[in-house]
Amino acid sequence: AEAYNAAVVAGRSLNAYTVETPELALAAAEAADKARAAGELKPLSGVPLGIKDLFATEGVDSTSGSNILKGFKPTYESTVSGKLKAAGAGMLGKLNMDEFAMGSSNETSAYGPVISPWKRNDGGNAALTPGGSSGGSAAAVSAGLAAGVTGTDTGGSIRQPAAFTGICGIKPTYGRCSRWGIVAFASSLDQAGPMAKTVRDCAILLEAMTGFDPKDATSLDLPVPNWEAGLSSDLKGKKVGIPIEYRIDGVPSEIDALWDKGVEWLRDAGAEPVKISLPYTKYALPTYYIIAPAEASSNLARYDGVRYGLREAPEGGNLDAMYAATRAAGFGAEVRRRIMIGTYVLSAGFYDAYFTKAQKVRTLIKRDFRDAFAECDFILTPTAPSAAFGLQEKMSDPLAMYLNDVFAVPASLAGLPAMSVPGGLDGQGLPLGLHLIGKELDEQGVLNAALAIE
Ligand code: GLN
Repeated sequence: AEAYNAAVVAGRSLNAYTVETPELALAAAEAADKARAAGELKPLSGVPLGIKDLFATEGVDSTSGSNILKGFKPTYESTVSGKLKAAGAGMLGKLNMDEFAMGSSNETSAYGPVISPWKRNDGGNAALTPGGSSGGSAAAVSAGLAAGVTGTDTGGSIRQPAAFTGICGIKPTYGRCSRWGIVAFASSLDQAGPMAKTVRDCAILLEAMTGFDPKDATSLDLPVPNWEAGLSSDLKGKKVGIPIEYRIDGVPSEIDALWDKGVEWLRDAGAEPVKISLPYTKYALPTYYIIAPAEASSNLARYDGVRYGLREAPEGGNLDAMYAATRAAGFGAEVRRRIMIGTYVLSAGFYDAYFTKAQKVRTLIKRDFRDAFAECDFILTPTAPSAAFGLQEKMSDPLAMYLNDVFAVPASLAGLPAMSVPGGLDGQGLPLGLHLIGKELDEQGVLNAALAIE
């Protein structure tokens, strides 16, 4: 009991969970014991999972890392977390995250930053970020505080934190996982996905999370593939595309070296490397940072002090005063920045110059991938342009923070499945991730290539 309590305290120091629900995990474990005795085990019977706080969970605080939703206990369950429960999994708690999933370091959370369980060899006790926005999810898996977790990925929020903490994470094709009950950030980009220690665990969890949902108008009405059964690291006959535009200045040589090793590992597994070109890559980041804030500014309009969470009503004030006071008190700095960028690019005078232009470039980026996939089966790149950085290191410079998403956002804009798999450690002993991008609906190809690297 002493060792257990010490582990719980050490785990809490990472600040990965915003709410703990051990009673729910325990109930699932007991149900699993009964199911085993009755010979009725389900795919995830008793498996203790953490759920990102962006998912609505019935009767359990669901605050999306924001003060504006503090105290919000939904009366309903998101489709994805509901599917995991129906498959037998138990919920350990809700996982810390960047506020409304906006960030790459988990530092925009109203609950404070998550601390990575990893340390630099020479860095003493300097705290590192686990990445974001699914930072609590990544830290929990990496530190052994959950067998697996849900994440969400709008522009890299599953893949970059997975890379920073040495775990696996997959974002499926847009539409595979229902968005119903997941608090919306940028609806045309948001996708849920699993994060876990191994590729196989990701395949198992993804199967349980996926499936058509009539409550999400963009949900794909397709059967759920049996990804776990389809796992194979034999890549004979496959071509792996290496995009020349992803060699960019300022990326540490260790990351380029790991990328080269990744190519060799895939070659050893039977794949043939081919150089490909994705010419519009350099416009992906600016395009993302127009489209995502535009959609966010619209989605966040619903937090008005009337329907959910926080309400600040100044004495003698009217309705407008309540909106203003609630939103000023409830939203953090990054969320306000996004709302301002979003309303600006959607305003009558600038709509065509920014939003319409960004939509056109998004189409060109999609075409880049379509053309590239005529020559290859999947694409290999680094997941992020750096290893985990220190807390506070990038918080005062939003553009430096946004740059960390440079390799992740193109696949998001194109709606393609993409996965981060651990590749190795840098000179400081920190994990680096390799990134696989697949054809639309080819999660199997992505998982298999990741398996060959793992
Ligand atoms: N870091 C990116 C952003 O802040 C991606 C976030 C995400 O995927 N949710 O927008």
